[in-house]
This record gives sequence, structure tokens and C-alpha cells, in this order.
Amino acid sequence: MNVRIAKELEKVTGRANVFLNEDMGPHTTFRAGGRADIFVTPSDIKEATDIVRLLLTENIPYTIMGNGSNLLVSGKGYRGCIVKLGQGMDHIDVSGTRIGAGAGAPLSKVARAAYEEGLTGLEFASGIPGSLGGALVMNAGAYGGEMKDVVKTVKVFDAVSMSVVTLSADEMGFGYRTSIIKHQPYIVLEAELELVHGNREAIRSRMDELAEARRTKQPLEYPSAGSTFKRPEGYYAGKLIEDAGLKGCCVGGAQVSEKHCGFVINKGGASADDIIELIRTVRRRVYGQFNVLLEPEVIILGEEI
Ligand SMILES: Cc1cc2nc3c(=O)[nH]c(=O)nc-3n(C[C@H](O)[C@H](O)[C@H](O)COP(=O)(O)OP(=O)(O)OC[C@H]3O[C@@H](n4cnc5c(N)ncnc54)[C@H](O)[C@@H]3O)c2cc1C
Repeated sequence: MNVRIAKELEKVTGRANVFLNEDMGPHTTFRAGGRADIFVTPSDIKEATDIVRLLLTENIPYTIMGNGSNLLVSGKGYRGCIVKLGQGMDHIDVSGTRIGAGAGAPLSKVARAAYEEGLTGLEFASGIPGSLGGALVMNAGAYGGEMKDVVKTVKVFDAVSMSVVTLSADEMGFGYRTSIIKHQPYIVLEAELELVHGNREAIRSRMDELAEARRTKQPLEYPSAGSTFKRPEGYYAGKLIEDAGLKGCCVGGAQVSEKHCGFVINKGGASADDIIELIRTVRRRVYGQFNVLLEPEVIILGEEI
């Protein structure tokens, strides 16, 4: 079955872009993960939407990914096809105070383009790894800014009507680390952001300041997916985890970072299942001690937490 589907996918995107039984570790910032039955890397928007049409027709489960910086595939693997958007969907065009960019554009590059044009509003995003598409799905945010603050419109492929639809910022249903895309079969293709004119020096200096804050506070020297858990209302996940005595706690090669307890890191040779087991341990211990159930921010495929 998978071989037949792979052959069909090759007709859409070429042999070099279709992989069977792919190790997902190298495709995620955790540098750990199980295998996807099929992994495909379309070259442009047309290929991406044709691939999704094909997968729907063949009834093959699929997941779209960007940079894999908030994604973990369990050791059991992913039964279906993972479609990685990036190449050929990474244009960035600035016009006045608007930036139009493809879902595959790295968020850091979009923030840099804004700076170069003297546009303010995206400084918060300059150190967030990942694609623009992933950032819109997650409503990525940091240091007081969120994607929802700068989004004008988002062009998506609706996998039910099989058509391209443009959503307004309101229709995106943004919330804390969430958007409508998490609940609807939409694939982000492009977006238009609205910024305001600012002072280039000030923009540069804010970006430098935030980069420095990340370097000093976050374990950027190890693979991770950033904050492992969402911030529970009224608490900080990292503080709860530290207060539960879990600083440095390990399962195999996975560790609660000693630098920032909100990060589970791959200290070296962690498997996806080490990471998942450590996430479970943290949740159990924090719940047992403080009656607060931490919700993972990282998206885990192939395993219930
Ligand atoms: C060191 C580090 C620091 C981080 N700091 C922050 C931070 O400060 N703030 C923050 O919010 N996050 C942070 N993150 C997490 C991560 O960078 C963001 O969530 C990012 O926006 C994810 O983008 P991505 O392209 O990697 O998405 P992926 O991890 O590839 O995917 C994330 C989710 O979006 C879906 N998806 C991706 N692209 C599309 C698309 N085009 N259409 C439909 N669905 C799609 C996937 O199915 C998945 O559910 C950090 C991660 C790391 C490793």
C-alpha cells in the first residue's frame, strides 16, 4: 500500500521528494523521533495541494509540518504521510507596511526582512525557530508579542472543500498557542502581515536584547522544542517543575534542563520515547504535588500523552 502511494506521490513531486519509512529525528529540533510511513517534501504550493488531494482520495492520514520545532513523532512512528512544507513556499515580499510571505518562510527571516525595511512589530519573533506556517498554527509568541498582533490575512487550503480560502485575523481564532488551524483541516499556504514604520536602530537593538535574553536563559546549546508545556493559568510551568524537584531529572537521554526547567532537552542520544516518558513523569509529579495538570505545548504524533 505505502509503496503504491509513494509511487503516486512521485508522479506529483518527483522521486527525490518522497521517502518511505523515514526517520523523523533529523527533521525535528528535538533531533529524536520515530519513523513516518511516508515523508514528502513538495516543491511548491501546487504540489503541496495536489499531494493533499491525493492523500484524501486514497484515505491516507496526513500531517503537515514546517520546521519541526514543536513536533515529536513517537517511537511507535506515524502511520500515514508527513508533508513538510518549506521549499518553493518561502517567498517574502515587503510592500509598504505589509509583508506577504509563504508558509515555508523561516519566521526569523520574515522578522529580519521587517527590520531591513524599518518595520516594527515582529521583533518578538526573531528568535523563534520555525516556519511562518507553524508560527500561525501555534500563534507563536514571546516577550509580549504574538503572531495574532501582526496578522492581516492567512491563505489556507481547505481540505474539506478542496479550495483555497483567505481568512481574516478574526477568522483565525487565535488564542494562547492555538488557532483555528489546530481544529480544522486547513493547510496554511501564505499570509499577509501588517506592521508599522519604526526606527531601524531601535528595532535592531530590541532584537539583540531578546536574542541575549534567550541565550542566557534558555538551553539553546541542546536540541529541544522550546517550552515543553503551555503556561498554566496563574503559574509558570518552569517554576512548578523546579519546585517539584525535577530540575535535571532524566529519562535516558532526555533531561529537564538545569538552565530552564520549562525545557525538556535532548542531552544526548534521547529517543522520542525517553522524551515522552519524561514529559509524563513531569506531568504526574507536578499534578501530584500542586494539583496543576501541565498541558504539552509540543505536538506529539503517534502517542497519547
Ligand atoms: C529553541 C526553541 C525556542 C522556541 N521558542 C519559542 C517561543 O519563544 N515562542 C513560541 O511560541 N514557540 C517557541 N518555540 C516553538 C516553535 O519554534 C514554534 O511553535 C514554531 O512556531 C513552530 O513552527 P514550525 O514550523 O517548526 O512548526 P512544526 O513544529 O513543524 O509544526 C507545529 C504544528 O503546526 C502544524 N503546521 C506546521 N505548518 C503548517 C502549515 N503550513 N499548515 C498547517 N499546519 C501546519 C503542524 O502539524 C504542527 O501541529 C521554540 C522552539 C525551540 C526549538
